[in-house]
Amino acid sequence: MFDWLIVGAGFAGSVLAERIASQRNESVLLIDRRSHIGGNAYDCYNEAGVLIHRYGPHIFHTNAQAIVDYLSQFTAWRSYEHRVLSSVDGKLLPIPINLDTINKLYDLDLTSEQLEQFFASRREKVAEIRTAEDVVVSTVGRELYEKFFRGYTRKQWGVDPSQLAKSVTARVPTRTDHDDRYFGDTFQKMPAGGYTRMFHRMLDNPQIKIMLQTDYREIRDSIPFRRMIFTGPLDEYFDWRLGRLPYRSLRFEHVTLDREQFQPVAVVNYPQTEDYTRITEYKHLTGQQSRKTSLTYEYPTDIGDPYYPVPRAENEALYKRYEALAAECPDVWFVGRLATYRYYNMDQVVGQALATFARIQKSLPSRTVTQIPAQREAAE
Ligand code: FAD
Ligand code: UDP
Repeated sequence: MFDWLIVGAGFAGSVLAERIASQRNESVLLIDRRSHIGGNAYDCYNEAGVLIHRYGPHIFHTNAQAIVDYLSQFTAWRSYEHRVLSSVDGKLLPIPINLDTINKLYDLDLTSEQLEQFFASRREKVAEIRTAEDVVVSTVGRELYEKFFRGYTRKQWGVDPSQLAKSVTARVPTRTDHDDRYFGDTFQKMPAGGYTRMFHRMLDNPQIKIMLQTDYREIRDSIPFRRMIFTGPLDEYFDWRLGRLPYRSLRFEHVTLDREQFQPVAVVNYPQTEDYTRITEYKHLTGQQSRKTSLTYEYPTDIGDPYYPVPRAENEALYKRYEALAAECPDVWFVGRLATYRYYNMDQVVGQALATFARIQKSLPSRTVTQIPAQREAAE
């Protein structure tokens, strides 16, 4: 009998396995239907010896020192600030849109103050900012929205930005200075030995047993456990009984080229052309030296593994109905991007898992409280 069954060995499941094993000294069976731990953050060396991310580029960034401190128990860090270029009108331009983006796009020489006025003259008045389109047109105007956001978003999500929640494009800021970093967070670093190595260290505890290539459905009736943490898709847990929660998927095309470098930065976005959304070149992220280079092309699709919850009002409403079912399962904790249907970054999932652990500690007194001998005798 395991104390806990944890379904999914991504950040959500692995952080909770680590906490439960190390802090409560309880036994955990951690399963994943994939052949590896790490969830979508999994990285590995390919046949050319280049470290790649199997599920697209994962860059760690956060403002939460507590999350950095927690993960730093399992990894050292390599400084890396992410930069992205967007292929627009035949030029490679910084995204998020900044002063250099506009000056290069329109062959101008604006100052930051002039750029403020430039945006002010182009931005549209939107009574209430509700959608992913509203966010952008009310900041930089329709022309830049069309060039940088509309096509990319339609490819990525399969729907028009006017049909998506504002939170989607609000992830990407607009700047009037030269700052060309993709993220503004205080901590931007990559796990020095990669994500998978960090996960191995996290899960290196005799109380944790790992079973890969194992779906929850295959073992739920045969392996006994007391409590469960579920980090897979929420609708799947309930056999889709209220209908399907839409998750967007991606097809990853991994290629290796016999040359040192392919593009000037780790990621180039394609909002106007191509069927893929972006190309990632991993050596920029990892700092690895090699005569070869490995890339990933991302093709969005509805078919395949679930990667992204699709933030729109009707989906949120269906999620709420599933959440009500989840609330009726007292011995099951639902955690992570798929089970809580949240477009969370890695640090947010770690934060959510640590918060869940704090709730577990509060609601379930640990079985293995250390007793002084006199107490033990009295208990016996
Ligand atoms: P997952 O990593 O999805 O793990 C869930 C695991 O559960 C999976 O391994 C799955 O196989 C398993 N599972 C599901 N159902 C079952 C079942 N029935 N039985 C057994 N196992 C099951 N975040 C960042 O912070 N920075 C980035 O740069 C970044 N880039 C990203 C790029 C892409 C292309 C994607 C898709 C995501 C990116 N993210 C990024 C988000 C990041 O991947 C997630 O925040 C994080 O991996 C979520 O962890 P999780 O444990 O909730 O889910
Ligand atoms: N986006 C866009 N053009 C870009 C970059 C982003 O339209 O060049 C939009 C798109 O809808 C995307 C969202 O902004 O899904 C969030 O971008 P982010 O880079 O955070 O996406 P992720 O890395 O999570 O796929």
